[in-house]
Amino acid sequence: MSVAEYMARANAHYYGTRDPLGSAGDFTTAPEISQMFGELVGLWLADLWQRAGEPANACFVELGPGRGTLAADALRSMRSARLQPSVHLVETSPMLREAQRGRVPNARWHGDVSTLPEDAPLLIVANEFFDALPVRQLVASETGWHETLVNFQDGRFSPVAGPLIPAPLAAAEPGTIVETSPASIAIIRDLARRLAVQGGAMLVVDYGHERSGAGDTLQAVKGHGFADPWENPGEHDLTAHVDFQALCRAADREGARVTGPMNQGEWLREMGIEVRAALLAKTTPERADEIRMAKDRLVAPDQMGTLFKVLALTAERWPEPAGFS
Ligand code: SAH
Repeated sequence: MSVAEYMARANAHYYGTRDPLGSAGDFTTAPEISQMFGELVGLWLADLWQRAGEPANACFVELGPGRGTLAADALRSMRSARLQPSVHLVETSPMLREAQRGRVPNARWHGDVSTLPEDAPLLIVANEFFDALPVRQLVASETGWHETLVNFQDGRFSPVAGPLIPAPLAAAEPGTIVETSPASIAIIRDLARRLAVQGGAMLVVDYGHERSGAGDTLQAVKGHGFADPWENPGEHDLTAHVDFQALCRAADREGARVTGPMNQGEWLREMGIEVRAALLAKTTPERADEIRMAKDRLVAPDQMGTLFKVLALTAERWPEPAGFS
């Protein structure tokens, strides 16, 4: 099977059978670090909606909502800005749907983006969603490019070079690996087309690179550390870096306005995380240290501030998104 199929099957089992988030789980995400993250995402969407003239029937959409923490925080700050959208969660894991149900009342669930409403503006967020979608890997050899396939022998999985690919890819040093994520591109194209037609905005936050480039970024994470991606598939989180340039190109082609990407740390500062942190510390002085540490974790360049990127897609006729000056 291809690396993409291996990753898709492993992650379907992984997310379908556990809640991987938090200190007791395998990894921690921005909304689990601090409520400030989801609040600022909610305010970013509400600000755009207000400046777009407060269109009726707006839908809040989250892709891969995890425990539902981001959605709950974002919806609370949207309410403070008079925005009360219907809620649509795109989630495949039955276990995580249950966790989301507890935090986000009155949501509707979707197995993929194809069933999202077609007649209303969409306010979409995806945090650490695209990195979990399958990638194909192509590897260069003396004779040309081969798709990497996954072999199972003597009880072990391992990557092997598959048949030659006749596609006209540029020549590269033997051993060079490139990754593509057709699943991610398909979702971005569908949503960018909807934004252009229905109006709305999308915020993509993930770790990855601004320019498409070569490299093997497939990684497995278990218990807050790295694991071997070819061992115990389905028992750890398999991800790959997000190719933001490929997402931008696909969205642009479908007629959405592309803004960014920029570093998460700078975007959160532009959105006022310092002021929000100071206010939270003032109302709960006993948590002041914890709040400062959480903020640093989200914005510091040596923590999540630089590796994580923020990308905005908006309908052309909607106002320019905040935070990207
Ligand atoms: N956004 C959350 C969780 C990130 S983990 C947070 O920031 O905390 C990835 C999420 O994407 C999980 O909810 C997982 O179940 C979901 N997911 C993974 N692959 C998916 C797919 N193909 N379709 C829909 N959801 C998927």
